[in-house]
Amino acid sequence: MFTREHTRQVHVGSVAIGGGAAVSVQTMASTHTADIDATVAQINRLADAGADIVRVAVPTKRDTDTLPEILRQANVPIVADVHFHFDRALEAVAAGVHKIRLNPGNISDRAQVRRVIDACRERGVPIRIGVNEGSAVERRDASRREADRQMTLVELMVAKLAEYIRIFEDANFADIVLAAKSHNARTVIDVYRQIAARWNYPLHLGVTHAGPPETGTIRSAVALGALLADGLGDTIRVSFAADPIHEVQAGKEILCSLGLRARTEPELIACPTCGRVEVDLVALVDALRPRLAELKTGLRVAVMGCVVNGPGEAEGADVAVCAGADRADIYRAGRKVRTVPASQIVDAVLDECRRWQARH
Ligand code: SF4
Repeated sequence: MFTREHTRQVHVGSVAIGGGAAVSVQTMASTHTADIDATVAQINRLADAGADIVRVAVPTKRDTDTLPEILRQANVPIVADVHFHFDRALEAVAAGVHKIRLNPGNISDRAQVRRVIDACRERGVPIRIGVNEGSAVERRDASRREADRQMTLVELMVAKLAEYIRIFEDANFADIVLAAKSHNARTVIDVYRQIAARWNYPLHLGVTHAGPPETGTIRSAVALGALLADGLGDTIRVSFAADPIHEVQAGKEILCSLGLRARTEPELIACPTCGRVEVDLVALVDALRPRLAELKTGLRVAVMGCVVNGPGEAEGADVAVCAGADRADIYRAGRKVRTVPASQIVDAVLDECRRWQARH
């Protein structure tokens, strides 16, 4: 286990962020918030998949008007994502949301931010300050101040955050969470390291606009993995141009891979295959995967493509199969328990998993 940096703790409804709490997984609904049925259905599907917190966009008053009903039906705490209109933040807080996200790039009027702070203080609602690369770059282009132009992008993002944090600190409001996202993994790593060295507010990690799951998973795993392994990060959001359920799955897998979250589904290990492979291993894995997902337990299952090197490579798995040309050896807790014909491999592995489950 990594040593986690100590941060302040805030509470987003029933979920604690920072101060040693488990790293939570967030995502964002992709529905139009004003469509209550679609939004609630998606929020609860994401919650079932393992999302701890879900954010919704509230660009119009129609959206904030629906929040009381959404909050009534949602199974997880809800964050209102506010851009441009500070009154959306006030309406969302009045509706009872559990957290607000503000973007310093588009709500910067000090008096308006103070009104949001006062409303959040009254209701015990934390605020995430979410800077992103785009708004920092806009500032550099718009202001053309010499000092800005001299700064690197990372320095500029941190400076932007510092300017905004000052408004909150001047108001003695400390229930804030910090985020500074970029689509570039290296920038994300650098900027969060600088933020963590300067403040002890909890950190919301994310790579923004990470693209489709194929590339976005890698970018997010690289950046978030490096930071989490450094002990940084209290809540994470993976963002994809795809159904947000994939964001939740990827976020959970990042945390499980680092031992920061216990698995609730089997971990499937499969050999990469080589010239010794004697079965269609890819087809075997494809057949096993959905069946294993039915078992709501974190056991480790190894699928190996030969009976020569397979047993050694499967060591450490709770259940393993070493498949030969027409039959396979099945192992439980490192011990060979039976040999089955090829046609029975999937059922036999499932059987052994259930046996393992019954004993643990
Ligand atoms: S388990 Fe066998 S087939 Fe799979 S990679 Fe190892 S040696 Fe090759």
